[in-house]
Amino acid sequence: MLSNERGTLYVVATPIGNLADISQRARQTLAEVDLVAAEDTRHSGRLLAALGINSPMLALHEHNETALLGQIMQRLDGGQCIALISDAGTPLISDPGFALVRELRRQGYAVVPIPGANAAITALSAAGLATDRFLFLGFPPRTGPARRRLFEQLATETATLVFYESCHRLQDCLRDMQLGFGPQRRAILARELTKLHETFIDAPLAQLVERVSEDADQRRGEMVLLLEGNTDQPADPKAQDAERVLKILLQELPLKQAASLASGITGLRRNDLYQLGLEQKTEDRGQRTEDGRQKTDFCVAARQIK
Ligand code: SAM
Repeated sequence: MLSNERGTLYVVATPIGNLADISQRARQTLAEVDLVAAEDTRHSGRLLAALGINSPMLALHEHNETALLGQIMQRLDGGQCIALISDAGTPLISDPGFALVRELRRQGYAVVPIPGANAAITALSAAGLATDRFLFLGFPPRTGPARRRLFEQLATETATLVFYESCHRLQDCLRDMQLGFGPQRRAILARELTKLHETFIDAPLAQLVERVSEDADQRRGEMVLLLEGNTDQPADPKAQDAERVLKILLQELPLKQAASLASGITGLRRNDLYQLGLEQKTEDRGQRTEDGRQKTDFCVAARQIK
C-alpha cells in the first residue's frame, strides 16, 4: 500500500464474540494494510491468526495513544495505510482511538470507518426498547456517590439509556439504578451478546436486582444494561394553574359559575374545567368516579384540557 500520497487510517470494527461477524471489508482491510494498530497485540494477534492474516502490529492503547501520534503521522505521510482496531467491537466506543482520530482529522488525513459489531447497538437492536431516541453513556462511574448522582440526573430522561458495565460492578450498579430510577423502571440486561450464552433479561429494576443476586450465572461475562426512558407525562403548568384556580373558586361558587370564571382567567375551555371541577368535587367527597378511578391526576387533566 505504499504510494506517493499520504496513507489512510482505517477504523476497523471487529467481532464482539462471534468470529463470523467479521465483515468481508474488515478482513480485506486488515490483510492489506501496512500496520495494524491494536489495543492489545496479543489479544488481537489471536484474531488475526484465526483469520489467516499476518500484517505487522503495533500496540496502541489509552496510555500511549498520544505519544504515538507522531509515529503514526510519519507512517501515513510516507504513504503507509494503517488499521486501528480495539479488543472487540468498534474502536473509540468506550475504547481507545479518539485522540488519534481527532488529531488526524484536524490535520486533514484520511480516516475511513469500516463498520461492524458494537455491543450497545447490538443490544438495542434486539432489546425491544424504543430506538428512535437513545442515549449511550458508556461505563457509569465506578464509585457509588458519583454513580448515584449520575442516575439521579438521568431519572427524567425520556430517551432509552444504554450503559456498559463490568460483571464485577453489576450488582452495585443495579442497586444504584433502583435508587435513582425507581424499582419499577423497566430494565434489560443483555449479556454475552453473539456468544453461546447470550441472554436478555427484561424486568423492572427491583426484579432484575433480585434475579441477578439469586443467579450467579447472570453476573458472568460481558454485559450491556438498558433502561426504558422515563414515560411519566410531564405536568402541564397551564393545567396545574387551572386546577388551582378552580379549587379556590369552588370554595365560594357553584361549579357552573366557577368553571366559567376559571375559563375566563386561564383561557382554557369552560366544559373541560366543568368536568375537572366535577372530578375535584368527587375527590373531595372521597368518592370514586364512575369508572372506578380515584381521581384525575395532573397528567390526565393536562391532556383533557386542550
Ligand atoms: N468498543 C466496544 C463496542 O463497540 O461495543 C466496547 C468496548 S468496552 C471496553 C467493553 C464493554 O462492552 C464490556 O464491558 C461490555 O459492557 C460491552 N460488551 C462488549 N462485548 C459484549 C458482548 N459480547 N456482550 C455484551 N456486552 C458486551
